[in-house]
Amino acid sequence: MLEWNNLSYWESKIWKKKFDLIVVGSGITGATAAIHFAKRNPGKRILVVDQFQFGLGATSKNAGFICFGSPSELLETKKNFGVDFLESQLRKKWHGHQILLKTFGASAIQAKMQGGAEVFQNKEDAETALEELPMLNQLFKKVSKVSDQFASSACSFPRFHESSISIQIEGNLDSGSLLSQIRKKFSAYNIPFLGGLKVENFERKSDGILLQGRNFEFFSEKVLFATNAFASEKPTVQPILPGRGLVKVSSPLSYPFPNGTFHLDRGYTYFRKVDGNRLLIGGYRNLDTKSEETLEVGTNEVISSAIDQVTKENILGFLPEWDYSWNGWMGFTADENPIIQKLDDGIVVAAGMNGMGVTLGPFAALEALRLFR
Ligand SMILES: Cc1cc2nc3c(=O)[nH]c(=O)nc-3n(C[C@H](O)[C@H](O)[C@H](O)COP(=O)(O)OP(=O)(O)OC[C@H]3O[C@@H](n4cnc5c(N)ncnc54)[C@H](O)[C@@H]3O)c2cc1C
Repeated sequence: MLEWNNLSYWESKIWKKKFDLIVVGSGITGATAAIHFAKRNPGKRILVVDQFQFGLGATSKNAGFICFGSPSELLETKKNFGVDFLESQLRKKWHGHQILLKTFGASAIQAKMQGGAEVFQNKEDAETALEELPMLNQLFKKVSKVSDQFASSACSFPRFHESSISIQIEGNLDSGSLLSQIRKKFSAYNIPFLGGLKVENFERKSDGILLQGRNFEFFSEKVLFATNAFASEKPTVQPILPGRGLVKVSSPLSYPFPNGTFHLDRGYTYFRKVDGNRLLIGGYRNLDTKSEETLEVGTNEVISSAIDQVTKENILGFLPEWDYSWNGWMGFTADENPIIQKLDDGIVVAAGMNGMGVTLGPFAALEALRLFR
């Protein structure tokens, strides 16, 4: 606590004075909440802290799909949780994507709604999904007013099964631009951001909430934990299971790669082009789910090999050089729903975005703010 114990009079007036809201976690959920709270409450003192300095847990480690679910993914959700749940989840994602674009600006985060497709390894999987398209289209229209979200189409990758399903409204963003835009918005709304601070403890006092870490101690009227996969670490705010994801980006390809966003196998695997005509691919967590319930950095060889294999055998026809490879952490709940809950007077959690936080995160952020009222 060397620095904290030696704060000057001037520094104490900034950091020891009670805040109106402290947001723990500066990913898409925490950032959206902080920005909207600032917009609605001019002059209130807000602070955002994050344990990471250079990036984020998932928001700047993800694949950047702005998506509502591929047909086989939506059918899996329907099978597990029923059609009413699926409709309500679609509604949240649809609403969330509108909040995302409005909050951060489509061009600032390089959001491009170019459409996408689900591709298949075999005829059976393609036919099962194709049979259900009328039901899925009807549901999507009910939620969004968009007709024919899904349609049968010829696959643009000759090494996958010949049938694919096009996805009309879907897109991608540049997650690095989103990270920059988050920081710019904090600055525009006069929200101090402190990276490299891990909150380790919180305590409700009679006149506010005390947040403590190794080198600091803050006091606030309200606290939002937007800690996603880390919500089950100390301080435990929810029993959320982490799910580590692996993403790889190839060296530039020598021929044009199709535009759009592509899904395989119930959304578990995904790929698309990124700047410089590179292939981005990630997924296959389902091949070793138990080992991937971790917040460690590391490469699971089974998963890494599966990514290499599908790239070589189905997507490109050869194994490219991988110029980038990294982990990010998703947060999973028992029922695929984010946990948006009041923990105590003035303490709210919005975590567990179940790998769909680009749309669910902004939705969860505004719901969380409602719980403070
Ligand atoms: C590899 C991968 C690919 C993905 N691809 C997509 C995709 O294409 N489309 C999509 O919709 N979703 C995708 N997701 C999921 C999506 O990125 C997340 O759901 C979303 O970013 C969650 O945002 P968040 O703000 O809730 O959490 P995060 O972005 O994880 O932010 C939580 C923050 O809280 C901080 N934190 C946690 N605990 C503490 C503490 N005690 N003290 C201080 N700070 C703390 C963390 O450091 C972290 O930065 C992907 C995720 C991964 C990992």
